Amino acid sequence: MTDPRELLARYLQQRAAMGESPLILDATPVKEAPGPAPASPDEHGPAQPSTDQHRGAQTSRDKPAQRSAPLARVRPRSPASKPDWRRGAPPIPATGIVVPAAEKDLFSTDPLSSMQLEEVAAAIRQCAKCVLCRERANAVPGEGPADARLVVVGEGPGATEDETGRPFVGRAGQLLTEILAAIELPRERVFICNVVKCRPPDNRKPQQDEIDTCVPYLYRQLDLIRPKVILAMGNTAAETLLNTRQSLGSLRGRVHQFRGVPLIVTYHPAALLRNPHWKKPTWDDVRIARQLVDA
Ligand code: SF4
Repeated sequence: MTDPRELLARYLQQRAAMGESPLILDATPVKEAPGPAPASPDEHGPAQPSTDQHRGAQTSRDKPAQRSAPLARVRPRSPASKPDWRRGAPPIPATGIVVPAAEKDLFSTDPLSSMQLEEVAAAIRQCAKCVLCRERANAVPGEGPADARLVVVGEGPGATEDETGRPFVGRAGQLLTEILAAIELPRERVFICNVVKCRPPDNRKPQQDEIDTCVPYLYRQLDLIRPKVILAMGNTAAETLLNTRQSLGSLRGRVHQFRGVPLIVTYHPAALLRNPHWKKPTWDDVRIARQLVDA
């Protein structure tokens, strides 16, 4: 017995040879069952260009009525069916705080100033410059591509991050992953890190001397990646990168500049888990950041 797929492929080739438009078909298998021939393409909406994946499948309207149902269902492609984070996104707001680039010290003896991204990560894993090294299981340098267009900066590792050596992998991390997916920037394409690279005991806020000791690693990472946008999530990231004590609420809704890179401030995902009513403003903030990535 001839494979129905071959019959369908042959039929499509005949239709194409007659100059008819191909169809978009999804690959959802349907049960083979006797029944009337499927509707013509016109009854399902305008014909669209097909993809290579779907080319070769077609309806069986020129086959006897008792033939099996087609193996693919006709479904017109609709742009409106795509997720659209742009719909209702706020306009790009005015400029806020400008943090100028640090002056280059040509005579610097700091080895960090000549390290590449992987070398910075290796240095962080061995670092014992502040007390946070004492109780850590793993330092968490951050992860993501060296050419990331977006860098997300949080406060510091939590328990799961400390266990795994990876940033944002607990519940808050799962929420961040979902937020990034919603703006069509998959987590794998984003560099994700924290201000301090080792877990503060009992998840306390890192102290200022710990931040001051650790932050050169973050600055070096940002200088090397040179992303199109930085997303500072939470008070500690915003205050540190913008060198300010202004509240997070007052820092939102503006495009700040960190060493020439646009910087958007929003809530930390862990805060969203405690305060779901902050999800909407966060959604607005990340869509502003997303627009700047495309700008
Ligand atoms: S928190 Fe930063 S400075 Fe402190 S030990 Fe860890 S990597 Fe070093």
